[in-house]
Amino acid sequence: MPPMKKTQSSPPPQEDRRVSTRIFIGLVVGAVIGAFFNLWGPHPVRDWILDNLCAPIGTAFLRSLFMVVVPLVLSSLTVGVCNLGSGQNIGRLGGRLIGFYMATVLVAIFIGQALVSIIQPGAGVSPELIESSRQSFESQVAGLRERSAMVSDSLWPGLVETIIPRNIIFEFSETNMLSIIFVAVIFGLALLSIEPKKALAVQDVLSAVSEASIKIVGWIMLFAPIAVAALMITAVSQFGFEVMGSVIFYIGVVLLGYATHFFVTYSAIVRLLIRMPLKEFYRRSWPVIATAFSTSSSNATMPTTMRTLEKEFGLPKSITTFSVPLGATINMDGTALFEVVAALFIAQVFGIHIGLLGQVTLVVLILVTSIGVAGVPGGSIPILMSAMAALGIPPEGIALVLGVDRLLDMGRTVVNVTGDVLGGLYLARVEGIDLEQHLSERGDTTKMQRI
Ligand code: ASP
Repeated sequence: MPPMKKTQSSPPPQEDRRVSTRIFIGLVVGAVIGAFFNLWGPHPVRDWILDNLCAPIGTAFLRSLFMVVVPLVLSSLTVGVCNLGSGQNIGRLGGRLIGFYMATVLVAIFIGQALVSIIQPGAGVSPELIESSRQSFESQVAGLRERSAMVSDSLWPGLVETIIPRNIIFEFSETNMLSIIFVAVIFGLALLSIEPKKALAVQDVLSAVSEASIKIVGWIMLFAPIAVAALMITAVSQFGFEVMGSVIFYIGVVLLGYATHFFVTYSAIVRLLIRMPLKEFYRRSWPVIATAFSTSSSNATMPTTMRTLEKEFGLPKSITTFSVPLGATINMDGTALFEVVAALFIAQVFGIHIGLLGQVTLVVLILVTSIGVAGVPGGSIPILMSAMAALGIPPEGIALVLGVDRLLDMGRTVVNVTGDVLGGLYLARVEGIDLEQHLSERGDTTKMQRI
């Protein structure tokens, strides 16, 4: 019999590092070209490049990532549940993870609240700006109001329907993450309780699907440097730099909030809980950060997050398959921070005083509703509008901030997915998993530094 071909050849870690550097270059070059295009303004040549080169390249990247999300999460999570071996283990991991995610979301919300109260970005906004934004975004706001009503219905009492699918295929086709997680967990638990021989056959197939999906993500990431550049050109060329001036304090507060959470809260977690030098953490997380920044989508970044945690940090599949889908769905620190700042900013502009009870309600609302935020560009806006309405803040006020949301969305998605990376590392730490050993087993000879 001829020797079997080796099928497990993952690219050497050095190759991954080179791709990371290229992604960084793509991001910077894309931002510079985008800024130039923005200043250039509408022109047939510029528009042709944007429509016929940048748009298809960016779309190809985004769609390829979305393409693997459902098979990857479904197969990996089911196998992950089987590997955990019992409902007790799943409960323990889930409890730890949800506790970690809730704690970090709360910190993010408090940072947002504190900054808005101290800086008061809405204090000096002119009534003309309210009127002109209302006119510019009238139809967009009307559409968002409809979606907002649907989203609040799907939170309660509709959460049951959001989680338990009547038709699995339909929910999969909508990438409804809560449903997908539910089906994978139930299916995994069922496999654990049937005859082991039969269950193993299914697990083998699902493991192969999961590995093949991660392989595809690796191929997609080879294309990332060019795609990230294309996405950056498209995004930055459309930034409304002129509208930014009028809400500059609002933008400043949101960005300051992201930076505080990213560099202070997350750095503290990296150093004190995960015990890793910051440089090491951010260097290894870079593919995730760049993908999130350029796609503005936690869902689209999910395959990269899973792959990076496995390849760069040595996390076992039993952790990533569980922590990443859960994180991308319920852990939205950047989004929560943004929502608090935006709601309170709009309240300030409209002269609505939110007292202590209102502030507490806001915290609870954002904490609970962040579960329902879809990990797609602008996914939080309809939820934010329903939270505002619940507090007596006019949801139409969202028009004030829509024009600058693309930039802020990029930032909050980075914060969201970095939180997911931390969630996985935290779980590995508390479960006592030896990451270095996993890395060396995979042939990574570059030693991961720890403190
Ligand atoms: N774009 C964000 C994400 O995918 C969701 C949002 O806040 O709009 O994580």
